[in-house]
Amino acid sequence: MMYNLLKMTKFEELHKLKEEMEKDETLPLKKGATNLVFGTGNTEATILCIGEGPGFNEDKIGEPFVGQAGKLLDKLFPLAGIERKEVFITNVVHHRPPQNRDPLPEEIEAYGKYLDRIIEIINPKIIITLGRFSMAKFLPNVFISGVHGKKYEVLVGDRMTTIIPMYHPAASLRNGNILEAEKTDFVNLKTILAEIFKPISVKVEVEQPSLI
Ligand code: URA
Repeated sequence: MMYNLLKMTKFEELHKLKEEMEKDETLPLKKGATNLVFGTGNTEATILCIGEGPGFNEDKIGEPFVGQAGKLLDKLFPLAGIERKEVFITNVVHHRPPQNRDPLPEEIEAYGKYLDRIIEIINPKIIITLGRFSMAKFLPNVFISGVHGKKYEVLVGDRMTTIIPMYHPAASLRNGNILEAEKTDFVNLKTILAEIFKPISVKVEVEQPSLI
């Protein structure tokens, strides 16, 4: 009898989940979509970004935030001192809603079981929500205008997780005031991240024995 004693890596687990999702014919938006937009980025990330759903370009390419909103996001990340390749990005629904309409509650629910598993596998320290649909998953009954850019501690699965709700970059592309607020939020995010990831200094009290 042979046992596989090796644990799957996060990359392998996510890959397996993506294959499972691709085979799932019950997903409500699958029929009208070209590609599944599962998510991309660093599978070892401590920061997970969650958007709304794929648009025209994302549906064609099969990756999240590759259109105009994604281009803006690429410019926002550096304001917080981070690069896109350091985070993992996914969406609330993983197939494009027709005509880019808002996802319906039953669609969010259907894709939610996969989103929950993505969160479980990545096990992020911080979740940045982009727009009100991903925000509502963790912070129900709030208005984005009142909470954007602030940090909240929320129990996600069995882990206390920092949730930082941000405006959706597409909203910033439509409204200059929202764009200015979002830029400020990403600049402030730098301070929030510095606090969360502050280096710990360990004072060595005893002299270490030599290894040789
Ligand atoms: N908007 C989103 O919410 N997600 C994408 O992947 C692209 C645009």
